[in-house]
Amino acid sequence: MRCVIIHYHELALKGRNRPFFEHRLVRNLRLALKNLGIKQVDALPGRIRVTLGNETPWEQVKSRVARVFGVAHFSLAQPVSLQPDPQQSLDLLKSVVGEAVHGLQFNTFRVSTKRADKRFPMTSLDIDRAIGAHVCALTGKRVSLGHPDLTIAIEMLTREAYVSVHREAGPGGLPVGISGKVACLLSGGIDSPVAAYRMMKRGCKAVFVHFHGRPFVSRASEEKARDIVQILTPYQLYSRLYLIPFGEIQRQIVLGAPAPFRVVLYRRMMMRIAEELARREGCWALVTGDSLGQVASQTPENLGVVEEAAQLPVLRPLIGMDKIEITDQAQRIGTFETSIEPDQDCCRLFVPPHPSTKSNLDVIKKSERGLDLDALIKQGLERAELAEFNFPA
Ligand code: ATP
Ligand code: MG
Repeated sequence: MRCVIIHYHELALKGRNRPFFEHRLVRNLRLALKNLGIKQVDALPGRIRVTLGNETPWEQVKSRVARVFGVAHFSLAQPVSLQPDPQQSLDLLKSVVGEAVHGLQFNTFRVSTKRADKRFPMTSLDIDRAIGAHVCALTGKRVSLGHPDLTIAIEMLTREAYVSVHREAGPGGLPVGISGKVACLLSGGIDSPVAAYRMMKRGCKAVFVHFHGRPFVSRASEEKARDIVQILTPYQLYSRLYLIPFGEIQRQIVLGAPAPFRVVLYRRMMMRIAEELARREGCWALVTGDSLGQVASQTPENLGVVEEAAQLPVLRPLIGMDKIEITDQAQRIGTFETSIEPDQDCCRLFVPPHPSTKSNLDVIKKSERGLDLDALIKQGLERAELAEFNFPA
C-alpha cells in the first residue's frame, strides 16, 4: 500500500494556530486530490499522510500536491508496521528498504532516520547504521553523508514507519483559506496575476475583479482575465471572477473631468467598485499588482491618491519588485504567455498624452465633483458578470 507523506514548515506554526493550519491543509489536500482514487488523507503527528488507492496515478498526485500551499516537501513512501520486538521491526525495515532501492541508479547513498516517537529503543543513528550496513551489503554501494546520490529517509512513528527514497518540493506558504479572503484587481497584464499568486501563497482566498473596456473595445482583455484565472485556480481550487464593463464609466469620467487626471480617476473608480464587491464577498483587503514607479499610476503621489478612494486596506505585494523579478515569477507560475497576448486594455481607453504623475488629493476630489460617483458605482455593480472556476474541472 503506497502513501504520500507530506511535511509542512514547522516554523510557520505558532501555538494555537497549529490545529487550524493542519485541518485546513488536510481539507485542501482532499479537495486537490479529488477524482484520483485516494483512500484517505489524515493528520499524523507533525505530518500528513495520503493513502493512495491501487489505481491512483502517482504522477498526477505529484503535480497536484506540488500546488497545494502549505506543503514544504513530500515523498512517495512505503509503510512498515512496527513490531513489539525491535529486531523484528528492523528486519522488516531492511526488507522494505531493499525493495525500495532495487533497480535504482546510484553510487553513493545515506540513510536519514527521524523518530517522531522516541520510545523506539534504537536511536536514529543506530537505525541509520544498521540499515546503511544492510544496503552496502546488498548493493555494494558506498555511504556518503555529504553529497549522496540517494537519500533513504525513514520516519519512525509510534506504530509504523515510512520509507522513501525521493523527496519532492512543495510550494511552501500557508494553506489557502487560513488568511481570509482578498479581492484581487486583475488586469490582463503581467503583474496582477503574480500579485494574486503571492497572496494565495500566504493563505488568502482570492476573489478576482476585472474591468474591461466593452462596449468600446473587443472582448480580448476579458478573455485573457478568464484564462489567467483558469491558470491560477489549481492553487486555490475554486475561483470567482467578476467582470465589469468599464467603458461607459470611463466615457463619463472623460466628459466630466480634466484630461490629465483621467488615469487616477479611473483607478479611484475601480477601487470603489472593487471595494463594494469585496465587502459583499467578505474580503478584508484589496490587492493590486502595482510596482513602485513603473507607470504613471504608480508614482508615490498617485498611489496614495488612488488608495484614498477605498476604506479597506490596499495590499501591493509587488511594490518593491523589479519588472524582471515579476516576469520571472509570472513565467514560473505559467501566466506570462497569456499576459503578453495582445489585448485592448481598458486603461488605455481615452488616455491623455500626458497623464499627471503627481496628482494632488484636493484637486482630484474637486474634479470628482462633476461626476455622480454613486451612480457610476451602481452602474458598475449592476452590470458585473460573475464567472466561476473549479479545479479539477
Ligand atoms: P498589470 O501588469 O497588472 O496590468 P501594470 O504594470 O500594467 O500592471 P497598471 O496597468 O497601472 O500597471 O495597473 C496597476 C494595477 O491596477 C494592476 O496590477 C491591477 O491590479 C489594477 N488594474 C489595472 N487595470 C485593471 C483592470 N482593467 N481591471 C482590474 N484591475 C486593473
Ligand atoms: Mg496593466
